[in-house]
Amino acid sequence: MAEQPTPTEEQKAQRAKELAAESKNAKALLKKCDRQAALVFDLNKCLGCQTCVIACKTLWTRDEGMEYMWWATVNTQPGRGTPRDWEKMGGGFRDEEPQTGKMPLRAEFGEAWDFNYDEVFFGGKGNTVHLQPSGNPEWGPNWDEDQGGGQYPNSFYFYLQRICNHCTIPACLEACPRNAIYKRKEDGIVLISEERCKGYRFCVEACPYKKIYFNHLRLIGQKCILCFPRIEKGVAPACMRQCPGRVRFVGFLDDENGPVYKLVKKWEVALPLHPEACTQPNVYYIPPISPPRFDAEGNIDESKPRIPTEYLKYLFGDKVEKALQTLKAEMAKTKAGGKSEILDTLIAYEWKSLFGPFTKDPAELAPRKA
Ligand code: SF4
Ligand code: SF4
Ligand code: SF4
Repeated sequence: MAEQPTPTEEQKAQRAKELAAESKNAKALLKKCDRQAALVFDLNKCLGCQTCVIACKTLWTRDEGMEYMWWATVNTQPGRGTPRDWEKMGGGFRDEEPQTGKMPLRAEFGEAWDFNYDEVFFGGKGNTVHLQPSGNPEWGPNWDEDQGGGQYPNSFYFYLQRICNHCTIPACLEACPRNAIYKRKEDGIVLISEERCKGYRFCVEACPYKKIYFNHLRLIGQKCILCFPRIEKGVAPACMRQCPGRVRFVGFLDDENGPVYKLVKKWEVALPLHPEACTQPNVYYIPPISPPRFDAEGNIDESKPRIPTEYLKYLFGDKVEKALQTLKAEMAKTKAGGKSEILDTLIAYEWKSLFGPFTKDPAELAPRKA
């Protein structure tokens, strides 16, 4: 067989250039979508009940290898969250360049805890033993629940609901050398192809929100799928439909009559989390309105908010001040007897008003054929 000529340095450089251009084109196609589904979570209404978290767990992450996965989480802020200290783990982009991210360890997510059910309920030990996790866990998804920040009597906390943000520029997609991550054309939902994924976990490092989990049994990445089988049938995602606090809105970002468009684009009261990561997340938050502070004499001190503005800016960027001003002005308007379309939208008198085109009752759908 004739020996292959060794490519020159110039040829190698040219090929590298061609491959980079091909990869850029491929990524552009994987990111392309006609419409974008988006969500708004109202931080002022969340009860911290974790119903959303369990709804997702029950529906999607009960298989082997998924025990430690919580695609939907609700953490107390300020707090270290899940995985522990995820906000300090890097990833995302700066000046359009991907930033190095840390791979969270299983221990930083917290393992799926086992409890001593047998000993307590069937061991015949009566009241002498109490229900507790086995194996001395050192972290879990809600380890620092309700601790919050500030000093009594001006301590504070609020709950932050997090799922994959189905970003417009997903850092996970850019980082995947297998092109296994893509946005769906019809709704911009970000999915991982389980056939293409080889478990390299560059996506896990790259996601600035640390919302991809590694399945250690199947050796693939897995994450929130925005309940696309429900979305396709006009049914709201499980974590949203089950929320008793009416916290969660879903719709298309370009639907000018929908609540998501109005809250995000028209009234600008819903903001993305950590926008500086530059992935253009499609989950938006109504920022929390502070309760009043008390001064040293115990009198109400309106001169500054109890939740430090700097902290809210850290979470939601500089636009948070304007969003809060708008919300407070609307509250003042209603207190004076006026009407507020923004507050009426946020109150969501009718649950269906939360879900745009996704109001179908799952019980009414024809059962799937076996
Ligand atoms: Fe990807 Fe993370 Fe954005 Fe989800 S939140 S689309 S996993 S970068
Ligand atoms: Fe889970 Fe669906 Fe909510 Fe995503 S949208 S967190 S998959 S319940
Ligand atoms: Fe908050 Fe709703 Fe989740 Fe309960 S179900 S924790 S109210 S978002």
